[in-house]
Amino acid sequence: MKKYLMALDQGTTSSRCIIFDDKGRALVSAAKEFTQHFPHEGWVEHDAEEIWESQLSSAKAAFEKSGLSPALIAGIGITNQRETAIVWEKESGKPICPAIVWQCRRTAAICEKLVADGYAEMIRAKTGLAIDPYFSATKLQWILDHTEGARERAKKGELLFGTVDSFLIYRLTGGRVHATDPSNAARTMLYNIHTMEWDKDLLSLFDIPAEMLPKVLPSSGVFGETDPTLFGKPIPIAGVAGDQQAALFGQCCFEAGTVKNTYGTGGFLLMNTGENAISSQNGLLTTVGWQIGDSVAYVLEGSVFVCGAAIQWLRDGLGLLASAAESEAIANTVKDTGGVYFVPALTGLGTPYWDPYARGTIVGLSRGTTRAHLVRATLEAMAWQTVDLLEAMKRDAALPIPALRVDGGASANNLLLQLQSDFSALPILRPACIETTALGAANLAGLAVGVFKDLDDICRNIAVERTFTPALSENDRQHRLTDWHRAVERALKWVID
Ligand code: ADP
Repeated sequence: MKKYLMALDQGTTSSRCIIFDDKGRALVSAAKEFTQHFPHEGWVEHDAEEIWESQLSSAKAAFEKSGLSPALIAGIGITNQRETAIVWEKESGKPICPAIVWQCRRTAAICEKLVADGYAEMIRAKTGLAIDPYFSATKLQWILDHTEGARERAKKGELLFGTVDSFLIYRLTGGRVHATDPSNAARTMLYNIHTMEWDKDLLSLFDIPAEMLPKVLPSSGVFGETDPTLFGKPIPIAGVAGDQQAALFGQCCFEAGTVKNTYGTGGFLLMNTGENAISSQNGLLTTVGWQIGDSVAYVLEGSVFVCGAAIQWLRDGLGLLASAAESEAIANTVKDTGGVYFVPALTGLGTPYWDPYARGTIVGLSRGTTRAHLVRATLEAMAWQTVDLLEAMKRDAALPIPALRVDGGASANNLLLQLQSDFSALPILRPACIETTALGAANLAGLAVGVFKDLDDICRNIAVERTFTPALSENDRQHRLTDWHRAVERALKWVID
């Protein structure tokens, strides 16, 4: 019986593959890093060919390790770094230029002009997004403007655009399928999240030929089959979602009001808001979680630019830590931060402040301050930033938040999660499998090919490994929240042009 699911997890720095069984247990995994290109200050590029090769080789490596016959793989789920823009030739499948990565700021001036020209409202209403170089539209526009003949070739149907999921589907199906899912389409700033279609007004605003866009198919459903030469037998590609939405699915956040936070390099808090696309008044983005059949789950999303990266900075920038994991033991040697607050605005601040001119600020230092206090203040900052996102969500969604589910590399830190529980006055649930992104993609595929019969069937597979419960009085919590906000005030608008 076919009961294994292969998840392709195409991230910003590595391409991974995990094979899961029908109980949601990871059987084997393999990963391959690929090159980051920084051709100019603020520019970030990937070689799409290298993305493909690293993804294929990690899939083959996992497959070999598993010893499974291809006939036992019921389906493939794809999850990916979002927003990254790729343009390739329809005929050869070859990229025409480097992929422009989500982090790339090269289109900042285009975005500033769009805001100055008054497009922010219209774009937010249609796409749920704030105008920013982060999203694909201006990246694609840039490629068409800076690659000779590209727009003409695209109009003739010779060139195709896609986010990374779409490029992988094209390659995996031997060029037979050009498709994406709504959770990825929603991050392009070209997709209307209400009509669930590519938006004609936006295509004309950015001068994007409709011929080059992928077909948008439900996140759980068969997109196509892999070319038989790749794994010996054709395997259906049956689930696709952007990384943060896949993690939300992997955490079984299926009900409106369920929330997950990922503590990685950055931090991403997503709330499922059900059938309602809630327009944020508090700096959150509105986006699509997934589409299953005709039913769409919308989400509110908040992002913290520097989360685990603050620990990395203590380790690599200051040399205060030998490893990220050591932060827990060191912070535990003191009972509090001794009044120190660290606002890790090392690359500005995201939700809800959206201040690119904010910079890292440490306040409350005294003669008694030690390394341990600073390390503890860093872990506290990771939790406080998440509290700010939670507060924004509570205000926008008007839904009670019963608990916070967590994942990502830094969620291994028990002290961080206890602080998170104390500061947010919420139970924090850490699942047994913190590979929730890959698991989410596998589960979307499993649902489409009948490994799971419904969402309840999927939920039966997840287990909470540990729950952290609040142990701080409301009075203390409010005092410290006020102090955190006083510290943030001092970090805002630091850089003067
Ligand atoms: P990404 O997928 O964004 O690359 P990961 O989910 O792998 O990130 O998490 C890595 C981040 O988490 C790093 O920034 C690292 O500093 C931080 N991190 C990893 N382990 C710990 C830990 N035990 N305590 C605190 N931070 C940690």
